[in-house]
Amino acid sequence: MDARVKPAHDTVETVTLVPIEKTALERYVAPDRPSLVGLSRAALADALGTVGVAERERKMRVQQLWNWIYLRGATSFDVMSSVSKELRAALDERFTLARPEVVVEQVSVDGTRKWLLRLPGEVPGERPHEVECVYIPDGERGTLCVSSQVGCTLNCSFCHTGTQRLVRNLIPGEIVGQVMVARDRLNDWVETTHKGEHKRQVTNIVMMGMGEPLYNPDNVRDALLIVADGEGIGISKRRITLSTSGVVPEIERAGSEIGCMLAVSLHAVRDELRNELVPLNRKYPIAQVLDACRNYPGASNSKRITFEYVMLKGVNDSIEDAKALVRLLKGIPAKINLIPFNPWPGSKYECSDWDQIEKFSEIVFNAGYASPVRTPRGRDILAACGQLKSTTEKLSARERLALRAMAMTDE
Ligand code: SAH
Ligand code: SF4
Repeated sequence: MDARVKPAHDTVETVTLVPIEKTALERYVAPDRPSLVGLSRAALADALGTVGVAERERKMRVQQLWNWIYLRGATSFDVMSSVSKELRAALDERFTLARPEVVVEQVSVDGTRKWLLRLPGEVPGERPHEVECVYIPDGERGTLCVSSQVGCTLNCSFCHTGTQRLVRNLIPGEIVGQVMVARDRLNDWVETTHKGEHKRQVTNIVMMGMGEPLYNPDNVRDALLIVADGEGIGISKRRITLSTSGVVPEIERAGSEIGCMLAVSLHAVRDELRNELVPLNRKYPIAQVLDACRNYPGASNSKRITFEYVMLKGVNDSIEDAKALVRLLKGIPAKINLIPFNPWPGSKYECSDWDQIEKFSEIVFNAGYASPVRTPRGRDILAACGQLKSTTEKLSARERLALRAMAMTDE
């Protein structure tokens, strides 16, 4: 094993796994006028009830609001011409259509965009919470990398998000809100282009931003069902990928309750090393993760599970590792996504050399697996972030997120 990696037994004592419920939103205070973005149809009907809409009318009103919010991207009640003036005013008094606020937007020459988003509401005594969201255009496809938590409790040793102290789960509106912001900024709502000629900019969603989505499973499910809803945002479930570090008990539900594509952060073929890289492995070892994958509802050759594998020099990138990876995944409808490691200040790893990545990729490819290695995109923004790396944790985290997201999309 490489000298940079501490022996696994060292970490067994020192790494504490935070239980799922600790990342709940106990102290979160919603804004006085909450946003309707992210509410299910049933919750929207209840909201209409609070402003005096009779029960028999609610279904029809929900339909109207749904259409304005998720199909046309309305940002104010004013524009809702099919809704009576009185109801618009009543809604405006109690609610908003706010999305997370864009604090910083960076646009690369190649079209990649990164947004630093401030979340509405507050947790007393804490600075406003922020998450990042990255848009990667690639020909006909535009992939949005969405966050599920502020920070992450899981402490994977190569991931910067895991070092962030602050962690909280995002609520559905904050997850759907990231998609809404992207559509706003990209002018990607139906009404903004000519009827019938609307060419979507955001075509794919990957839950690969900050956080572990399956430590926030209910909110992620509710949000993704809205994102996939055919009468609204309408991004097909085949174009939505949820990435997990391997929260085994929640994997089945992602398939049965959301029906999205699954990506698993494997990163190692032996438990001893994976314990080190992804400490959650001590709870759910490789065999259990792969079993959950074998049983993933809907998995098939046309709906393959993506296995993410970060390339760490001298740690997990040997030819033996590549061969073992192929053996391990035998019988699972899989594709393998090799991700060049993106270093951050204080990280103890290096990215594998390019020729080693190529050799690794070739073995995987020759075994019959698609094994894309993404060329980094948005280098110009990354360079800018890189300059600030040593002074702000936040920006280096953003840099990492962008590179990671770029490495990841191949649907
Ligand atoms: N928490 C989830 C989803 C977010 S991370 C998960 O772990 O799957 C998305 C992907 O980026 C994961 O595969 C993760 O292991 C990888 N990743 C994290 N830090 C990275 C880094 N510094 N360089 C490259 N990939 C990284
Ligand atoms: Fe969390 Fe994923 Fe980072 Fe691990 S890789 S610390 S699970 S965000």
